[in-house]
Amino acid sequence: MGWFDKHCEKCGEKVDKNTAPQRFGKHFCSKEHAEEYVNDREAQMKQAPKQKSGGGCC
Ligand SMILES: [Zn+2]
Repeated sequence: MGWFDKHCEKCGEKVDKNTAPQRFGKHFCSKEHAEEYVNDREAQMKQAPKQKSGGGCC
């Protein structure tokens, strides 16, 4: 108990890491929250401006 408790990345609910759905190495209380997290993440990636190919920096 204690140290290695996992919590839902979406709502913070305590989850059992042996049975909890997992996405991107994160644990979730339910498949629904796992899917929502994936959707949120994909939406963020689409919105994120491409900053990788910026010129030289200092
Ligand atoms: Zn949840």
